[in-house]
Amino acid sequence: MPRLTSFTDASASFAESDFVILGVPFDRTTSFRPGARFGPDAIRQHSWHYESYDLETGIDLAEARVHDLGNTEEFGSSEEMVRSVRDELRPIYKEGKIPIVLGGDHACAPPSVEAYPEDAPSLGVLYLDAHLDFRGSYLGDARSHACSSRRMLEKVGARNIVVFGVRSVSREEMDDNRSLGMSFVTSHEIARDGIQASVQRALNMLKTERLYISLDIDAIDPAYAGGTGTPEPFGLTPRDVKFVIDQAAPRLAGLDIMEVSPLFEHGNTSALAARLVREAIARVQLSRRSR
Ligand code: MN
Ligand code: MN
Repeated sequence: MPRLTSFTDASASFAESDFVILGVPFDRTTSFRPGARFGPDAIRQHSWHYESYDLETGIDLAEARVHDLGNTEEFGSSEEMVRSVRDELRPIYKEGKIPIVLGGDHACAPPSVEAYPEDAPSLGVLYLDAHLDFRGSYLGDARSHACSSRRMLEKVGARNIVVFGVRSVSREEMDDNRSLGMSFVTSHEIARDGIQASVQRALNMLKTERLYISLDIDAIDPAYAGGTGTPEPFGLTPRDVKFVIDQAAPRLAGLDIMEVSPLFEHGNTSALAARLVREAIARVQLSRRSR
């Protein structure tokens, strides 16, 4: 039986790694069902049952250089969580590695974008979510998971973030966005136009050299990913999200997968999240090989 405390095939040291996994077991800003604090370890656990050879790309993931840093501290305020994620992420970017952050609620994602160095190639964010997450502050907390796209916009600028798969928004968020101008592609538009055209549209909006993918697992339909805090029908399919990752991989600067709450599932959501991490690693490897 393998040790279940680290992600599968994460056998590289930090120094020799190309990909660095960090768990953030923090869910203090969830607004409905909690449990995302158990996400990182559930995702790790489910990563172990996959074959290392990837049928589609021919990449052997056992050869990818992946390091697992473990988890940040479990308890503390959202400010402390933000500080520790930033501190962990800075050296990862500085050394040209790709961080893969496992949440935790979506509050854990903005600090991993904020840690991106100012002098590095320009960064755009592809923000996959059922929700717009665009509140200035929620229940008195500007670091709530309901504010995460807004915090990222403040780092990268309105032209460099696109929310993808959204289907739930408040009137206040729409009013705020009239002046701030963040782009979004709704799940209804994706159903209408098809995933290929929709991803192309989103990528055309992001002119940056590098891309950061922030995946709130609730972007995916609860039929596939019900293990989450605020499930929302009419979502993306797992294959839609795989397609997004495949297309973005050549420019990928970082990835997070947030809001997996294993309390509300039988393993399918955690298994999917683990598989999407594997997909991202394989696709980045493939794009480097064919360069
Ligand atoms: Mn979210
Ligand atoms: Mn969401």
